[in-house]
Amino acid sequence: MIAAEKLARADAGAIARAGEILRRGGLVAFPTETVYGLGANARDDTAIAGIFAAKGRPRFNPLIVHVRDLKDAESYGKFSDMARELAAAFWPGPLTLVVPRKRDCALSLLVSAGLDTVAMRVPAHPVAKALLAEAKVPIAAPSANPSGKLSATRACDVAEGLGEHVDLILDGSDCSVGIESTVIGFESDHAVLLRPGAIAREELEPITGTLRAADKTHIAAPGMLESHYAPRAALRLNARQAQNGEALLAFGSGAPAMALNLSNSGNLREAAANLFSMLRKLDASGTQTIAVMPIPNEGLGEAINDRLARAAATRAP
Ligand code: AMP
Ligand code: MG
Repeated sequence: MIAAEKLARADAGAIARAGEILRRGGLVAFPTETVYGLGANARDDTAIAGIFAAKGRPRFNPLIVHVRDLKDAESYGKFSDMARELAAAFWPGPLTLVVPRKRDCALSLLVSAGLDTVAMRVPAHPVAKALLAEAKVPIAAPSANPSGKLSATRACDVAEGLGEHVDLILDGSDCSVGIESTVIGFESDHAVLLRPGAIAREELEPITGTLRAADKTHIAAPGMLESHYAPRAALRLNARQAQNGEALLAFGSGAPAMALNLSNSGNLREAAANLFSMLRKLDASGTQTIAVMPIPNEGLGEAINDRLARAAATRAP
């Protein structure tokens, strides 16, 4: 249980209080359209260190900075024509752009984890937007869960995982997209898919051309590590049915009626929105293994399969 005053419905009063907490260096969890974020003032080294400590996040994993608009983003990072075009097309929305830091960049060096780039996005969720307006500072916010674990798509999930470490959790209902932002970086004049996410490759490639895969030796960040997004239970992927003692996470109309189903109609958007909450539910049932039915690897399926593969990967002891 966390103290009741730490959990607040995201009304104007609570958002004002949250803005004040951020300005004086505290931690606020808030909803975005992707997953709940654990936010701190991105200009304040001590506050950012607090995020790493609360999550148990390795220091080499950089953070995404949430800003109000492209103009704000361009005051911190250098945007190429392609980066600007992507921002114009997808912001506000679940697309993160990794661009070189400007020389006079006012953001804490810790958000970049030693890299000379910074990851930024403009969120679309009304609570996130209102919080940015109220706080009047850029907000660094990784997913609001202990490092390596399942992301949180409900305020109660945040309270369970990080409740004792945050100053305030803004409860703004469930996250509509339910899966993290797509992260795009740039190498010379090419766009690189650093993390598949809420905006599908097919939507981006008309602007970027064929997206290249991230060079694994080039970047080391736990969001890209083999084991991440891990429930307590083991995962068995591409399962046609549950075996003895397994709990089934189904997909599509051909699934057993009793099973928890990511989307009965086979809708990948619905499946993405349900992914983390259903994994949490099956994990809480105490099962040893969650058997997951195959998900087509198109559209949002690429991001869903990315999360499932990392959740299933062998974990460090
Ligand atoms: P999270 O905040 O947990 O959603 O994870 C953010 C992810 O964004 C990281 O795991 C990285 O993959 C990516 N990221 C953030 N900043 C950078 C950066 N400067 N360069 C490359 N990737 C980044
Ligand atoms: Mg995360």
